Amino acid sequence: MGASQQIIHEIMGRFAKRNPNEPEFHQAVLEVLESLEPVIEKHPEFVKSGVLKRIVEPERQIIFRVPWVDDNGEVQVNRGFRVQFNSAIGPYKGGLRFHPSVNLGIIKFLGFEQIFKNSLTGLPIGGGKGGSDFDPKGKSDGEVMRFCQSFMAELYRHIGADVDVPAGDIGVGAREIGYLYGQYKKLTGLYTGVFTGKGLTYGGSLARTQATGFGLVYFVDEMLKANNHTIADKTVVISGSGNVAIYAAEKAGQLGAKIVAMSDSDGYIYDADGINLDTVKRLKEVERKRISGYCEYHPTSEYFTGSQGIWSIKCDIALPCATQNEINEESALKMVGNGVMVVAEGANMPSTPEAVKVFQSNNLLFGPAKAANAGGVATSALEMSQNSMRCSWTFDEVDAKLKEIMKNIYHTASQVAREYGHEGNLVTGANIAGFLKVANAMMAQGVV
Ligand code: NDP
Repeated sequence: MGASQQIIHEIMGRFAKRNPNEPEFHQAVLEVLESLEPVIEKHPEFVKSGVLKRIVEPERQIIFRVPWVDDNGEVQVNRGFRVQFNSAIGPYKGGLRFHPSVNLGIIKFLGFEQIFKNSLTGLPIGGGKGGSDFDPKGKSDGEVMRFCQSFMAELYRHIGADVDVPAGDIGVGAREIGYLYGQYKKLTGLYTGVFTGKGLTYGGSLARTQATGFGLVYFVDEMLKANNHTIADKTVVISGSGNVAIYAAEKAGQLGAKIVAMSDSDGYIYDADGINLDTVKRLKEVERKRISGYCEYHPTSEYFTGSQGIWSIKCDIALPCATQNEINEESALKMVGNGVMVVAEGANMPSTPEAVKVFQSNNLLFGPAKAANAGGVATSALEMSQNSMRCSWTFDEVDAKLKEIMKNIYHTASQVAREYGHEGNLVTGANIAGFLKVANAMMAQGVV
């Protein structure tokens, strides 16, 4: 074992003891630390000043009770979380996730990833994440509102436009953000940019809704161009049918690609003629129904139960946009066998480490989440700028900035990978590039 590997081994050993039973958090930290090996060799000062030890420990973790009353008059209790992970380069920034699978380990993994992603955008935002094990699915609007109000009755103490600025994530869309923001305003009396993803009538930015999905496709486009290909006429499979999936499908379609499959947690649809996105939007954004409903409108399409099968569909580009660890080694091998040339992660950590190895060893173009899905948070930072300046940019202005940011992220990750001897490995490139800025800021600010 080399000296830098020994250092990583020691840090991971201590980390594992301090964070038991949090497999997703371990997975995220191990991936970053392993890719920092060449940095440790070149910059022993980061080890000496304890940057590595400090960066894996959240600055603050808040866990709170969220009681609310359902439509039957019964009291329900959920658990709320906010992990303020790192504020070296700016106020904490990261979404809130409402999903029954949420626990502290999931929020820590997401908050940790957010540090490097936010740094990669080039904008001054630190890393954080939050959420609850509340499931908005099947709840009435009144129940969702009462839950959001109770959640904010505690969270408001810990956030602020220059402190910590949450946004949406799984299960937190326009409706939830509206209720959360309304309650924040009532409790504090402040009309500030404390949230991003806000509605357009109360401080939201044009193009924020589309940003993660559009940004993902801009990233893929840039990656393809750099390899002498284009996205036009490619066949695309997208998992999920939420915010990221829908707008990735929209932009890929605009650039001439054909989307043949999408999914939700129950199953997936396959439409050889190309998915009709208007139907998906109506089902998911307006009616809040299941993706299976698509086949009623498009009888030649097919529905399959279970979300894993989507990865056995033949395509050129695969965009996992649902959730963590949705592509395992077996699915990755099938994808390689089917001739997939690009995998770019819209979701956070959707590929297991084994799946990533399969993609890399078979020379697929692989865009890791930290780089490929950074368009959402980047546009959130643009929303913060507009709120501070009390102005609104046009859709085209925001979209042009987003495109530029995604291009820069691709080129930065790819250049840093080359510089550190891992040409073509965007996982390493994104991790190192994201890390360096934060690590330098932490060094400059002393041991705090
Ligand atoms: P949404 O809640 O809008 O959509 C999530 C989609 O994924 C739904 O179709 C959902 O299906 C599906 N899904 C969720 N959990 C599972 C699961 N366990 N198995 C299979 N499918 C599942 O969330 P977003 O689109 O906002 O987020 C999707 C991913 O993108 C997440 O990983 C998120 O962290 C990441 N991301 C989001 C950003 C944003 O701006 N929104 C920014 C950067 C990353 P169902 O309805 O059945 O639950």
